[in-house]
Amino acid sequence: MTTLLIKNACIVDGTQTEPTAPMQIAIENGRIAEVAPTVTFTADEELDLAGLTVMPGLIDCHVHTIATTANLGANAALPSSLVAAKASHLMRDMLMRGFTTVRDLGGADRGLQQAVEQGYFAGPRLVICGKALSQTGGHTDYRGPYDNRDVSWYVNQLGTLGRICDGKPELMRAAREELKNGAQFLKVMADGGVSSPSDPIGYLVFSVEELTALVEIARGFGTYVSAHLYDDTAITRALDCGITCIEHGNLISDATITRVAREGAFVVPTNITYDLLARKGAEFGLPPESVAKVADVREAGLERLTKMHAAGVTMGYGSDLLGGMQTEQSGEFPLRGRYIPADAVIRSATVDAAKVLRMEGQIGAITPGAYADIIAVNGNPLKDLNLLTDQGAHIPLILQGGRAVKNATTL
Ligand code: ZN
Ligand code: ZN
Repeated sequence: MTTLLIKNACIVDGTQTEPTAPMQIAIENGRIAEVAPTVTFTADEELDLAGLTVMPGLIDCHVHTIATTANLGANAALPSSLVAAKASHLMRDMLMRGFTTVRDLGGADRGLQQAVEQGYFAGPRLVICGKALSQTGGHTDYRGPYDNRDVSWYVNQLGTLGRICDGKPELMRAAREELKNGAQFLKVMADGGVSSPSDPIGYLVFSVEELTALVEIARGFGTYVSAHLYDDTAITRALDCGITCIEHGNLISDATITRVAREGAFVVPTNITYDLLARKGAEFGLPPESVAKVADVREAGLERLTKMHAAGVTMGYGSDLLGGMQTEQSGEFPLRGRYIPADAVIRSATVDAAKVLRMEGQIGAITPGAYADIIAVNGNPLKDLNLLTDQGAHIPLILQGGRAVKNATTL
């Protein structure tokens, strides 16, 4: 099938506080050709979506498709073939929750991306950075104290989120290798983190010289650097070095929020992960020292949502869940909805997420020229964000590139 006409589509994309009047959406060769109250278009197939709410396919700006368990050290040691098999299931489940695009923040490779593109398994469009770049004792170094075994093997394991590089030459080489291997942006661990044993939050790990060199490489390649950050000093330093995408950002100060809004940088909060880690981390295999770190950032992250929204910061939707916790991927919607308006929450997973991914006009919008990634929701998510949860139970239709990957409409 190459042409499809969707009728009676009341569209919600987060740019307005009410659904649109019924529209017709003409789809040709996987892309949206026309959107208007009436179109003159002869299609091979028609879908009448009266009674449903139509949305662009959702975008999660921060996932880890290869994190098959929350114990990332154990995950790193798994055979790559097993990790790929498990990742295919994690990705299929993301798609079935309505996420037609996800950005992987460390671990996914070009092979997983190609497997989806070539139809070996169903999954979201995958935007990748290859391995995240970390340093000895940093956020992707899973060795504890007294363990100085060589970890150069990390780079060849699909189950590792990152690779270890110390000093400007090693970092530059690693960045260039990731870009050569298909990375679409670079990810750097520019602060300590929760899921690793020896890096306290607020640890200014990479030097200014290292971070600046990384930004230069990314810019030279026509892309950007995204950084794992919590602490305000670490965030300010990263911004000074030219980093334009802040992951987490839980401890950002009011002054830095104003600066981020002014400079047009992006923030991808990932509150659901702390919410869930605090409740169920140990059960899902998170080591005790990591569970203890969660409390430091959980409340702060939620409180900052309201401030960032008020300041006009462009926020992307992020879940950042590991292993079995990934079933809670959509929980970030109602969690954010307690702090900011529903239209803003939706926008973070549609038009604003597309900005974060530098894919404006391609995804996250029902506009001519965009991929026909479209979902239909049973009810109005502007009134109830929980409609986007429950593993896609309230989403009877999921189109990806104009093709139905789920169609439980009775129309
Ligand atoms: Zn992170
Ligand atoms: Zn992450």
